[in-house]
Amino acid sequence: MKALLPRIEISLSQIRHNARILSEIYGKKGISLMGVTKATLGEPAIAKAMIQGGVKFIADSRLENIQKMKNAGISTQFVLLRTALSQAEAIIRNVDISLNTELKTVRELSRYAKIYHRIHQIIIMVEMGDLREGILPCDLSQFIKEVLGLPNIKIIGIGCNLACYGGIKPDAEKMGELSQLADAMEQEFSIHLEIISGGNSANYEWSESTPQVGRINNLRLGESILLGCETLNRKAIPGLYTSAFKLIAEAIESKEKPSLPFGEICQNAFGIVPTFRDRGIHRRVIIALGRQDILISGLSPNSNLEILGSSSDHVVLDSHNDACEVGSEVKFNLDYGGLLSAMTSPFITKQFIGISQIVAA
Ligand SMILES: *Cc1c(COP(=O)(O)O)cnc(C)c1O
Repeated sequence: MKALLPRIEISLSQIRHNARILSEIYGKKGISLMGVTKATLGEPAIAKAMIQGGVKFIADSRLENIQKMKNAGISTQFVLLRTALSQAEAIIRNVDISLNTELKTVRELSRYAKIYHRIHQIIIMVEMGDLREGILPCDLSQFIKEVLGLPNIKIIGIGCNLACYGGIKPDAEKMGELSQLADAMEQEFSIHLEIISGGNSANYEWSESTPQVGRINNLRLGESILLGCETLNRKAIPGLYTSAFKLIAEAIESKEKPSLPFGEICQNAFGIVPTFRDRGIHRRVIIALGRQDILISGLSPNSNLEILGSSSDHVVLDSHNDACEVGSEVKFNLDYGGLLSAMTSPFITKQFIGISQIVAA
């Protein structure tokens, strides 16, 4: 049987390898890992590969993804990265640990935790300058004071998230600040904060360059496990695979044509009046893949091909005169945006490779 197109080929053994190397690198510094599965739509096989590679927790931003992994029989500690008030009941029923920044939400979690006779664990996120989620450091003490008064909620740690919204670098200063906050809160309230979660895949450079990680003993890693890179400059991390995911689609037209459209130029399908560079007559290849399938800017062709543009259902390539025959398969590497959209697309088939090694392990 011919393999389905378009498809994403996923090497589970490479993902497991990446998780293993990262667990070793960070483990040497006393840092445990949460494997973040959100970019894979909570794919159970990928969570399993991460766990086999040594991650201690599986974290996802979507409750639905966590439910999917649990239903598939994945058994580990699940962490919810994005906590919504309206989901409090489902969170209590499905998740062990959630990240929190709002008292109103924690109160609701406490209420349901009591009803279901559960102790729900929370990590309180602190705002360190990136301006996405977090409680300002000056408000942390009051927040903890109030949470300590709530039944069935256990504060197990604090954390921060950088380099996501504001592009702020997790450096020695920021990590030192988080460490100090942990010490100060423990002293003030005579509590022990077990997890100090310093960030995500952007923390690699900090961890490599710092002789002392301070109190930081956890990171939440998605992209470095999946794509093998850090995320401040998207540099490959030595020893990791950077193309565990490959997108493969079909060439459906391959013709020599002019490179300039002919006729009067108006708006294209997306409301833009396009401009073009004259490359003379060249071979143009059309791929059966479009904006309805994937974020086109997240694709990079493996070979000599160059992406010229795209519409809802087509990508147009300059083949640089490679004979790219109709019906042939064209391979692309993916960045994080490409991966996220490919894994979420109902049109792209997921094909696991290296699976026998995962099952046997
Ligand atoms: C997505 C996310 C992560 C993982 O980020 P990567 O850059 O993929 O490592 C970590 N923490 C939080 C709160 C997230 O939302």
